[in-house]
Amino acid sequence: MRNCPECGGVMVYERTSKLYSCTSCGTAMNAQELLETTERVKSEREKVEKAKRWKDEYLDWWLSSKERS
Ligand SMILES: [Zn+2]
Repeated sequence: MRNCPECGGVMVYERTSKLYSCTSCGTAMNAQELLETTERVKSEREKVEKAKRWKDEYLDWWLSSKERS
């Protein structure tokens, strides 16, 4: 079973149209598009996570340097 890259809902495969369609948001795409979109969303999410982590680390550093002075 696949999950919708847009909303995380359940994707169902429709044999007639050969498309995966989301039961939650209605997004429909073929297997190739689904794969590409999933990869794109995943890498975007990782980028955001990385930026967030960096910000947290900076904040920690900033707070601890403030405590020291
Ligand atoms: Zn969806």
